[in-house]
This record gives sequence, structure tokens and C-alpha cells, in this order.
Amino acid sequence: MKSQYDVIVVGAGIGGVICGAYTAAGGLSTALFEKAAVVGGRIQVDKTSPGFTGHEHWVAFGQGWGGGAWYRAAREVDADVRFYEVPEPCLYYRGTGMKRQIAPRCASASALTSYYESLFPTPLSPSTRKAFIKAFNYAALIPHEELWREPLSCTPFFDWKEKLSDDPTVIGFLATIAANSTQCNTDEAMQHLSVGGLLGALRFWWMSEAHCVAFKPNLVDGLVRPFTDAMARDGGELFLGTEVLEVIVENDRAKGVVVKTAAGDRREIRAGKVVVNANFTQIPSLFRTVPPEVQPAIDAYTALPLHDLTVYAELDRPVTAEPHPVSVADPKTGGNLLMIWSLSNAFSWNAPEGKQLIFATRVLPFDKAERERVSGTLKEEIDDIIDEVFPGYRGAVVTKNYASHFPLWQYQHTWYKKIPYRSTSVKDLFFVGDCVEPQQSMTVDAAASTGVFTGKAIRRLEGR
Ligand SMILES: Cc1cc2nc3c(=O)[nH]c(=O)nc-3n(C[C@H](O)[C@H](O)[C@H](O)COP(=O)(O)OP(=O)(O)OC[C@H]3O[C@@H](n4cnc5c(N)ncnc54)[C@H](O)[C@@H]3O)c2cc1C
Repeated sequence: MKSQYDVIVVGAGIGGVICGAYTAAGGLSTALFEKAAVVGGRIQVDKTSPGFTGHEHWVAFGQGWGGGAWYRAAREVDADVRFYEVPEPCLYYRGTGMKRQIAPRCASASALTSYYESLFPTPLSPSTRKAFIKAFNYAALIPHEELWREPLSCTPFFDWKEKLSDDPTVIGFLATIAANSTQCNTDEAMQHLSVGGLLGALRFWWMSEAHCVAFKPNLVDGLVRPFTDAMARDGGELFLGTEVLEVIVENDRAKGVVVKTAAGDRREIRAGKVVVNANFTQIPSLFRTVPPEVQPAIDAYTALPLHDLTVYAELDRPVTAEPHPVSVADPKTGGNLLMIWSLSNAFSWNAPEGKQLIFATRVLPFDKAERERVSGTLKEEIDDIIDEVFPGYRGAVVTKNYASHFPLWQYQHTWYKKIPYRSTSVKDLFFVGDCVEPQQSMTVDAAASTGVFTGKAIRRLEGR
């Protein structure tokens, strides 16, 4: 470990490793400090679940615009990233007896409208059909780079929706697909999603602008590690088990960090630029004074009660051959009741021989009373739904584990404050990760996109 670098990156999540790979490729001496013993950050939060070989539902949703931010990054820094396409989701209306429908990739507004019509017994009126096509075309014309940056990233969809359409059927449909894409109910989607978040979900999932992909043997070794390898090839240094205790700020300028090394020593390392990949909850401990433009984002994040409930189940025999993820919709409201993956069918390498692995997830109600009301019955309801979709599930389960996470990526879709990629109050201080804007994509790919953006910005500032 040297005492001075051009760039220090705090945290080896996907945002941090991509940023480090770019700065190293630009010839800047780069140190990447990760407090955990492994790279990958939240990509490997939960390894407690039965049967799952380490990684659970982290397929990357991220082959986004232009192939995805990580895809372009892999080309630009020449990282050895290989990936596998994941089948399209299918839709299942609970309790109606309707068969599961594989959602098509829709190439145009007309295609999307026709598909929507096919889900309902009565055709749309000609004027509503026209309104649909107009709205979808309008939504599709916004450059994707604008969806995840101000103003669209911080404007509530609810306040903006008339720009798209004044037809309530059109708005109802948008609320429904937003709810299904973010696994909450339609009212919550309307209340909390930003314009960019809602239209991004629509375009990403329904208008064919992105595909889901998976990595072998898992996201860390298949996606994250190739970027640390590329960084090392270009002279960057990775220090695992090394916690950054403080970002040194002198005269409103970031000057380096104080680290606790793997051996337990405390050292001060200086740098021309400091990039923080730590997320909302981790940032406050890094600064004596949190930069004032960062604090509102942390406050907004902590105020939003966003939690999922996920069941991970190991089955002793296959009960379904379904490789497509199943989005279970409430036929009355259109809201999402559950997203179910038969993971071992989609990516066989995740499961031990002969075992079937299923996980299913939904976002808990935002309303406190409602959250408490469902807490006693939700696990049971989740099992009922899975058994309805995949008969025989209950009888085949040998072990299962329920987990509740803070699905931070859902926060990306909201209109609440995010952290600016470049501090306005502290010079030479930058941020990357899925809590940062601008972003150019969704989920893992969004975090990746901030690594590209910030890495390139630093190179530009340094004339590289
Ligand atoms: C349960 C769950 C399921 C998800 N499922 C999916 C999915 O299926 N598909 C998808 O695309 N996305 C999914 N996501 C989202 C995805 O995991 C995240 O968006 C992405 O991994 C975030 O990356 P990041 O770069 O922002 O940072 P993080 O992964 O949060 O990395 C930050 C890193 O900084 C390190 N760090 C923090 N403080 C310090 C310090 N002081 N010193 C040194 N190091 C430090 C941390 O240890 C960590 O490694 C899921 C998230 C969760 C929680």
C-alpha cells in the first residue's frame, strides 16, 4: 500500500469496481479499499438460504440501453465478462384460472397496445386505443439518459401524468405495470415513483429495451471480479478487509482517507480524488460532517419504509419446468402479489443436482398499519400463491428461509433525493453506486452506470 494515489475508491460494490477499472485504464494510480473480505457488496448479502449455492436472486436486470452499462464498460476496459440471457417474465392473474402468459417483447406502441388489449375480454374504445399509442410513443421518445437524472428522476409521476395522457385507462395501465415491475401495489407506485422510474420500468421491461441476464458461476465471479482483474492489469490495487474509517477533508477538499488495514493498523493515505461507493446508511460514518448536499438524500432514504419479504425454498423434486419468472397479479387491482422464480430452471448451475430452488418476493406495504396487518398472514399467503402457480410446491419443500431486505434498487425508481455524483461542497469528492445520480439504467446496471460516469468524469478532469 502506497501513501499517495491519484484516486482512492471506497468500496468494491459494482459501482466502485467499474469506476476503479476506468481510472486505472486511464493511467491514474488507483487504490480500491473494501472492508469486507470479498468484492461485490450487496450482490452477496444473504447466503443463509437452503440449497442456494451462494447467490440467490441476483440475476442482473441490466442488459439495458445500448447493451447495458456493464456491457459497454466491459468492452471499454476489456474485462472478461460473459453472460446468459434470462427468459422473459410471464404474467399470471391469481385465482382466475387464466393460463400464465409469457410477456412479449413489444417493438412499438401498437404492439404494446395490442398486447394489453389481449389481456382483457373487452376491446379498448378507438379513442382509448389512440390515447395508448400516443402515450407510449411519447414515453419512448424521451432519451433514456434523461430518465434517471433531474428533473425526471425527482418529479413524482403522479404530478406529471397528464403530460402523457388524460385518459384514466392509460394512466391505470401505467400504474399497474409500474406496480408489477416494482412489486408493490398501484397506489404506492403512483405515490412514490418518479417519472423516470415509471417510464424506465415501462420501457425497460415492456418496450423491449432491456433483457435480463445471468452470470456464471455467479454475479461476483462472473461480473464483479472481471473488473477488479482489469483494474489490477492496468496497475490498480485492491485491498480487501480494509475499512475506510474516514474521508479526510481539509479546507473543503477531499485529501485522502484513513484506513484500518487487514492487519489492524490505522493508516492515512492521500489521494488527488476520493470516490465513495458506500451507500446511504454507510456514508455518515465516513465523514466528520456529511456534505450538506448529501444529507437530504440520506434523510429521504431512511424515511421510506421500503422492505421486501422473500422466501427461498429448496425442493426435493421438481414440481415445475417453468424457466420464466412469474409475475402474479391481483386481478381486481392489477397490483403485484408476488414475483416467483424457479431459479434452478432458469439457471441450472445455481442448484445442486436433482434439487429445485424457488424464490418468491414482494415488497411489504408502505403503510404501517397495513404492514402490521399482513405480517401475521403474509408468509402463508406467499406459500399459497406459489402452490397455486406451481402445484405440488408445498409438499416438495424440504427447507425454506424467509428474509426481509431493504431492496435499495427500488429506491432508484422513486422521486426522492439521490446523492450527486460529484460533491458541490467538497472538491475532489465523488460518489458512485445505486444511491447516486445521474444513473443511466436500472438495478445492478444502474450502479454500474454510475461507475462508468464518474470514472470517465475523473479521467476528463485529469486530461486522460
Ligand atoms: C436483497 C436484494 C436483492 C437484489 N436483487 C437484485 C437483482 O435481482 N437484480 C439486480 O440487478 N439488482 C438487485 N439488487 C440490487 C443490487 O444488489 C444493487 O443495486 C447493487 O449491488 C449496488 O451496488 P453498489 O455499487 O451501489 O454498492 P454496494 O453493493 O452497496 O457496495 C458498496 C461497497 O462498499 C463497501 N463499504 C462500505 N463502507 C465501507 C468502508 N467504510 N470501507 C470500505 N468499504 C466500505 C461495502 O462493504 C460494499 O462492498 C438487489 C439488492 C438486494 C439488497
